[in-house]
Amino acid sequence: MNGQCFIGGGWRPGQGAGFASIDPASGETVWDGAAASHADVAAAIAAARSAFHDWADRPREERIAAARRYKAELDARAPEFAEALSRETGKALWETRAELASMAGKVEVSIAACAERTGERETATAFGRAVLRHRPHGVMTVLGPFNFPGHLPNGHIVPALLAGDTVVFKPSEETPLAGELMARAWEAAGLPDGVFNLVQGGRETGAALVAQEIDGLLFTGSAQAGAHFRRMFVDRPEVVLALELGGNNPLIVWAAADAEAAAAIIVQSAFITSGQRCSCARRLVVPSGPAGDAVVEALEALTARLVVGPWNGADEPFMGPLISARAAEGALRQAHALNGRVVTATGPVEGLSAAFVKPGIVDVTGVSTADDEIFAPILQVRRTASFDEALSIANDTRYGLAAGLISDDPGLWRRFLNRIRAGVVNWNRPTTGAAATMPFGGLGLSGDHRPSAYYAADYCAYPVASFEADAVLSAPGEIRGLRP
Ligand code: NAD
Repeated sequence: MNGQCFIGGGWRPGQGAGFASIDPASGETVWDGAAASHADVAAAIAAARSAFHDWADRPREERIAAARRYKAELDARAPEFAEALSRETGKALWETRAELASMAGKVEVSIAACAERTGERETATAFGRAVLRHRPHGVMTVLGPFNFPGHLPNGHIVPALLAGDTVVFKPSEETPLAGELMARAWEAAGLPDGVFNLVQGGRETGAALVAQEIDGLLFTGSAQAGAHFRRMFVDRPEVVLALELGGNNPLIVWAAADAEAAAAIIVQSAFITSGQRCSCARRLVVPSGPAGDAVVEALEALTARLVVGPWNGADEPFMGPLISARAAEGALRQAHALNGRVVTATGPVEGLSAAFVKPGIVDVTGVSTADDEIFAPILQVRRTASFDEALSIANDTRYGLAAGLISDDPGLWRRFLNRIRAGVVNWNRPTTGAAATMPFGGLGLSGDHRPSAYYAADYCAYPVASFEADAVLSAPGEIRGLRP
């Protein structure tokens, strides 16, 4: 396959350097093509700019109809699209099928969110009425991550297009095929030329994109890149920034009678998607003594049963490889640097490619560790004497994305809820559970207080408040202090 960019309603090869995406399990090339050059990026922005007013001026129902046609295209393409995502990311098929379902489901959820959060409201006044409306910003750029290469950019793109913005999307350089397949679905949905554009490439292409005259950057990715954009846009306040970033998420187990049930929630929090979810639990806090021992033992036993393997292997895997051998090498280096007591050893998986790593558990009680996100199936455990100390450990991070409590005690849940600093806070459910009908975003290094998912509508349009009277009439007595 020779991948291309989709600019102004047409497909064209990029003019920049060539690159490829590789199936991390098999090493096969999944997509190859050329990155967009600076000229390609400028052309995409120009196409989006020239399409903007016409798109924004169309009746909302027309944009809704286009989004529904896109959903129908996703539904029709779901089996091949999911398989392509599995090949490109290594994720299990059950996961990529769920990703496709989330992408399609996003359309109706976003239509509802758009109406509820950024619709119109009218109040009668003595002179006529006060009206609240929302207007689109203009050209939105979307930079996507590799871990949910369909679902997460889709969560910015669908609300933006519904609001009347036009979009230039750059997928992760690890997942250009996912971006191309999404663009083909929008193309088949019959959007006007220039409303949706796709450019391919890595950070250089991303940098060329954000250097253009844009109205918004809707970004899902690492905290490091988010901090870079925050600094970069400090003198461009006219550009809307929505930053959905990483986390160093805590999970406390306290007063939970069933250690095995707790272990099942921990495994789904820490190791799902090979630990490559922003909401994965990275730090587990348990009581010192027998209650904590029971949880860690149950966790060890369940972890040993997890199938780690390729998406198309004989046994359905719980988790696949990391996105690349390079990512695996980096994660193993971070895990070894923790300097704790190894409970379950991580490491390469015998007989599989270098992108696979075993889930690992390290007891770091009493050890000072860096407040970094390890984007891999590596869980740090801390034991402590009191629930208050557990809360302090949980909050001892500059991030604030997800957090969880596993406990049979509703009183502890209330204390947890009041004290924990995070945007996604779950009780007896994995930290990785989140609903499209709720906002999703974090505090501190995890974001910029512009949560996505249900609240994405908010950053795709700005409110306009108007006083309106139908005729040029001056109301008697309106001006005080006039000479007769
Ligand atoms: P990343 O930051 O490396 O890259 C994300 C995108 O930004 C890519 O398209 C990349 O090319 C581009 N990019 C990165 N640095 C850039 C720069 N300096 N200039 C221009 N473009 C740049 O992230 P990733 O490794 O693809 O994704 C994993 C990260 O995303 C993790 O930290 C994870 O926690 C986070 N994440 C957050 C959420 C959320 O909703 N909060 C969801 C998923 C992933």
